[in-house]
Order: sequence, then C-alpha cells, then structure tokens
Amino acid sequence: MAKTAVTGFPRIGKKRELKFASEKFFKGEINEEELQAVAKELRFYGWKKQQEAGIDFIPSNDFSFYDNVLDTAFLLGSLPSRYVKLGLSPLETYFAAAHGYQGNAGDVKALPMKKWFNTNYHYLVPELGDDTKIQLAENSKPVREFSEALCLGLKTLPALTGLYTFLHLASYTGEKKAEDFIDDAVNAYSQLALQLEALGAEWIIFSEPALVLDVNEEEKSLFLNIYKKLLSKIRAETKLKILLNTFFGDIRDLYDEVLSLGFDGIGLDFIEGKESLSLINKAFPKNTLLFAGIVNGKNIWRANYENKLSLLSEIKKSVAEENIVIAPSCSLLHLPYTTSLEDKLSDEVKTHFAFAEEKLCELKELAAGDDAAFAENKKLFARERVKKNPQVQTALLSLTSDDFIRKPDFDIREKIQKKEFNLPLFPTTTIGSFPQTKDVRANRAAYKKGQISREEYVSFNQKKIDECIALQEKLDLDVLVHGEFERNDMVEYFGSQMDGYIFTSNAWVQSYGTRCVKPPVVWGDVSRRSPMTVEWSVYAQSRTKKPVKGMLTGPVTILNWSFPREDISLKEQAQQIGLAIREEVLDLEANGIRIIQIDEAALREKLPLRKSDWHSEYLDWAIPAFRLVHAKVRAETQIHTHMCYSEFNDIIREIDDMDADVITFEASRSDLKILDALNEANFKTEVGPGVYDIHSPRVPSVSEITGALNKMRDKVPLEKLWVNPDCGLKTRGEEETVRSLSNLVEAAKILRAESIFFDKAV
Ligand code: GLN
Ligand code: ZN
Repeated sequence: MAKTAVTGFPRIGKKRELKFASEKFFKGEINEEELQAVAKELRFYGWKKQQEAGIDFIPSNDFSFYDNVLDTAFLLGSLPSRYVKLGLSPLETYFAAAHGYQGNAGDVKALPMKKWFNTNYHYLVPELGDDTKIQLAENSKPVREFSEALCLGLKTLPALTGLYTFLHLASYTGEKKAEDFIDDAVNAYSQLALQLEALGAEWIIFSEPALVLDVNEEEKSLFLNIYKKLLSKIRAETKLKILLNTFFGDIRDLYDEVLSLGFDGIGLDFIEGKESLSLINKAFPKNTLLFAGIVNGKNIWRANYENKLSLLSEIKKSVAEENIVIAPSCSLLHLPYTTSLEDKLSDEVKTHFAFAEEKLCELKELAAGDDAAFAENKKLFARERVKKNPQVQTALLSLTSDDFIRKPDFDIREKIQKKEFNLPLFPTTTIGSFPQTKDVRANRAAYKKGQISREEYVSFNQKKIDECIALQEKLDLDVLVHGEFERNDMVEYFGSQMDGYIFTSNAWVQSYGTRCVKPPVVWGDVSRRSPMTVEWSVYAQSRTKKPVKGMLTGPVTILNWSFPREDISLKEQAQQIGLAIREEVLDLEANGIRIIQIDEAALREKLPLRKSDWHSEYLDWAIPAFRLVHAKVRAETQIHTHMCYSEFNDIIREIDDMDADVITFEASRSDLKILDALNEANFKTEVGPGVYDIHSPRVPSVSEITGALNKMRDKVPLEKLWVNPDCGLKTRGEEETVRSLSNLVEAAKILRAESIFFDKAV
C-alpha cells in the first residue's frame, strides 16, 4: 500500500474558534494563556484527524495565529525593529506586525499584505532592511509544535517556509538584497534542523511555492546558492531527510537544478502543474520519494478515482511504486473542514464533496487501492449529478461574436454620453455601498429568519435609500448610488438569486488573518430566475433627477469567489453567469437606469502565475465574459466597472479591452504609479482612481484630495477623470463617511474651478 502525506491542515477551527478567540483576546476578554489553549486544541484536532485517517506523513508548524510567512519572519528574528521596540510580549509583538499597533507603547502600521500566489489567502510581506540581522528565535514555534505533537505519539514533519520563497516575497528597504541574507538564514535554518533532530524529527519540509513562478537566471542562482549551502550544512550536522515541497503549478524552469541537489523527497503538484508529469517522465532520481499531489487541495469536489488511477499509472512509469507518496496538490488550508457540518445540504449533494477531512479519506483509499471504495466512486461519477439546463445550453450555443462587441465604438459613445449626462468636469461618485449600520443588518437578518414581512423589509430599505439619496444630493455628488442595503455580500447576493448555485453553512476558508470567506458553490448550469436588483435601482432613481447607478457584480468576480464546477470549463461557467448578468443589465436599462456599474473586484485574482498562461488560460475568456454582459446596451447607457486594486500595469490593455465606459479602482494606497501606465497605454476608458482609502476610518482633508487629483490631472486627460473613493463604504461609520465625501466634493469643485480658469488662460 502506498504511503500518504499532508503538508498543511485548516487551522481556523470547524466553527472558526480561532477567529472568535483572537477577537476576544484583542478586546481583553481572555488572556494569552486562554488564547494559547484554544490554539493548542485546534492543532490537536488536526493532528488527531490525520492520525485517525492513517496519514503517514503529518505536518507540524502549519498552524498560525495569523500567517505562516509572518511566522517565518518572526522565527528568523527579522521583524522590523519598529515592532520589537514597542517592548511588548512576543505574541503581542507578532500581532503588532499583523494588525498594526496604536496604544501606550507607540503607533505603528501593520506590515503590508499580499495575495498568496493564486489563492484567496493573504500573507504579510516580510521586510528586510540593512539593519536586519537574521537569527533563529529561541524556543521557536516549529520546535514547540513538534514537541507538542510528540505528546500524541506523532512524529510530525515540521513544515517551514522555504528560504527561497521567503527571500523572494520579502521587500528590501535598503541596499542589501536577497543574497546578503542567505548566510544568516542558512545558519538559522540549519540550527533549527539540529534542534528538531535532537527532539526526534526525521524529516523536515521546505515549502517552496515560489519555484512554480517564471524563474529567471538570477533567481535560479539565488535558489541554488541557498540550497547548496543549506543542504550541505544540514547533511554535515544531521541525518534529517529533506522534502522540497512545491505547489500551485510545476517547476519546469529549474527542475534539473532541483534534481541536482539530491533532496530526499520532492513534492510536485499534478493538478495545477501542467508539466509535472512530463518533467518526471524526463527523469526522476531513484532514491527520492515523490510526494505526488494528485488530489485537488483547493476545490471541494470528490476526486474521480478512475482518473486518479490513470494519473498514478502514468507516474509509475517514471517512479518506483514504493517511492510514491500520495498527497493533496497543496496544503489543505485552502479548504473548509468537513462536509459533516452541512446539515442543510442533502446527503446526495454532500456525497459529491470532499472538504479537508474527507480528502484525508480519499488519500487513504487511493493509496490502498480499495476495491469497494473504487466501485462506490465509479458509481458516484456515473450518476447524472445535475441536469443541463436546456435554455442555458441554447443561449450558449447561439452566442456569436456580436454578443461580445459593443457598438458603436468607444470614442463615439463617449461623445454621445457626454451630451446625454452633461456632467461637470471631475464628476463625483461613490463605488456603491453606503455604511452598513446595525439596523441595516438587523433588517436583513430579521427578514431572512421570517420575523418580518416582505413589505416591512422593503419599506425599511426604501427608507434607507431615501436617506442615502437625500444625503448624496445634499453633498452634491453627481452620479448617485442606492447604497446596497439589501446586500450582505457582492457574490452571495447574486448567487442566491440564480439557479445553479448552492450555499453551505460552514464551509469557511481563511482569507487573511483569521478572517474567512464562505464561497458559494457552482453546482449546475447558472441562470437568472427573475430580476435581482431592478426594484431597488428603480426605486432609488425615482427619488432623484440625478442619475443613479445600477449596481451589479461581474461574471468573472462571481466565478472567482465561488467554488467552480470541475465537470465543465471555467470559460463556460463564466459565460453562463455572464448571460444571467446580461439579462439584469438589459432589464435595468429597460427600466430607465442610465448608468450601470458592473464590479469586477476580483478579476486579477485568478490571473495565472505564469505569464505564458495569462491569455490562453484566463484573459481570453475572462475579458470576453465581461464584454458579453454589456455588449447589447444602447450607446447612451454608460457602463462602469470597479476593481479593488490597481496592480494592473501589466494587463492594462486587456482592462481597456473590457470596453467599459468608466473604470474606478483602488489607487490611494498605491503610489499612483498606475497613472504613468494609463498614460503610456493611451488608456481610452474614463478613469476614477480612488482618491482616498476607505479601509481606514481616517477622514481625508480637502488638500489631500486636491493633491491626489492634481497628480492625476498631470497624467490623465482632464475630461476622462472621475472623482471617487477607493471602494465601497460598507464598512465605514456614517459620520466619517459624510465628512470624507463632503471633502471629496469640495476638492472636485476646486479642481473644476481651477481647470476652467486654466482653460481660459490658455
Ligand atoms: N459595489 C461594491 C460596494 O461598493 C463594490 C465592493 C468591492 O469592490 N469589493 O460595496
Ligand atoms: Zn472595491
């Protein structure tokens, strides 16, 4: 029977215990000891589950209070001194770097946070400066957790963030570069290896996802430099076996180099790693274990055993059977705990899913070649899980290129719309949501629980819309919104009104820190049942003469924030959702809504890790899916889109190609570099780079905003500029929102006056 391995397990708790305990700790309701006790229980839970399932290689150090990369920075003693100087306890220092700290000991911002490769998990960016001295922390977390697992009789594999990935992700604030930190980092890790071996460890894992990116020559030599030194030290001092674990893709750019280093185990991803199979077919060392990631560690569907078996038999052509260890394609962190908590789903539905705990069972069944399990699995996949929706199928089949091309061309539309709306220069607007105060949430909750009637629910929201419109008129904003009081979440709101979607009760997945998301599941063909937003938008528009934007979420974002189907392509799913949203767009237009915003907050999220895949695997269907949604509207109807980031320098043409009329995006936290890119690309779409950060309660001053607008005016043609916040105002308080927006409008008016003067002077 083949062996099985796991390299990371969910850690938030089946009922998000870690989140709630951490929040209590920050409020001072529990102390550090109590928080540590909760954490310990969660670790034990994960280990016991893996032990009971009979997993052969079980990791430790995969737990984290916030993030494993931050843990690594802490482990290597490389937290920036501004956090250490606060003089707090180690755990509080750690949290200061994670959340920022404002209190008696000082005032420091958090480390920046970034998306972890192509997942929705976020890591904290390590910061290395010329004064950073890397050295191993005392009584470190990997040591403590390894010892803890020994109490269960488990000899775990401590999982460490690989030094290449760590140095690759770090930001460098001084002259020193990655190379300058190698020696100290290697010393720290080899010391750690010694300590772990002394406790009885036999293996350690170096997790190196950065190896699946495009790797250039310089990076290749950085990798070799690190591992030649690290391996020779560890080999000289210990008998530890070393697993180099890679995931989220394949390591084609330095596979030969990896082989040349002589690891005891190599972890390859056979799900997202398109070339993994051909790499091992080329060569795989005789005495090395292959940790074969053949079970999808990111999606919740059951594995098709027949397919897995044929994959395994391909693998066996290059690797001896006894050297194959069956594993998930990546850490199980990116999955919810277990389907057993989903009481609202029928058993039939649930049999199609495998969350983290069920994946353990899949690994074992695959390793055992269990006949009964195979027969069962075969039956499962032979059943018709869901019927195709004939209307959706016909609609898809009748799509032609015209469905993706809006007419007339942008330049003509822009002129028509300037006339149609007659907006001033620097038109002001917001991104959609207004503060979701307690009463707003209570109203939704009461309605959902059946405590109030539909009329009561609607009339409360209408009152909120009235207030929201009145406020925006008073502030003198130009393009208004209805406030989105009916929505809890920009994907769930639409998913729950479309056929084909199903929702879980507890399938939480960690996004950042202890925050989780609960992505809906695309179960069958997606279609709209009836209008989803029209009543709210039409009501809001009836309260004012100014244009009110209809607010929708775009197909790519809806799909990216869902668990997708595996039986049809992402492209087809995006088109199905696109068709449903298109119906909504056309209904809004038919009902007198003249501006429609289609948010694509998450468009960049699933951009493939390798540049060579950007178009063929993603952009070639994602951009058309957006165009499909708005291609049929009239020239006068203005289409906006919004994105929650501004790192799109490298896909700027594709963004322009979405052919929206206006795009708003987050810019205030980035250094406005995007403006140069817009300028160089001759960006045609009108733009509203966010002028202030809505993620903080700070109220931006008028001069701050005019300052930002001045910079924008230098780079973007005046008549293409919009003025708006960074993102929706849902999480903000009412008072700060009013003050911020009032300053925003005032700043726009100042710029307007100046520009008119400027025009005349010329
Ligand atoms: N329209 C949404 C809002 O304002 C957009 C949210 C987002 O971009 N994440 O809330
Ligand atoms: Zn946003």
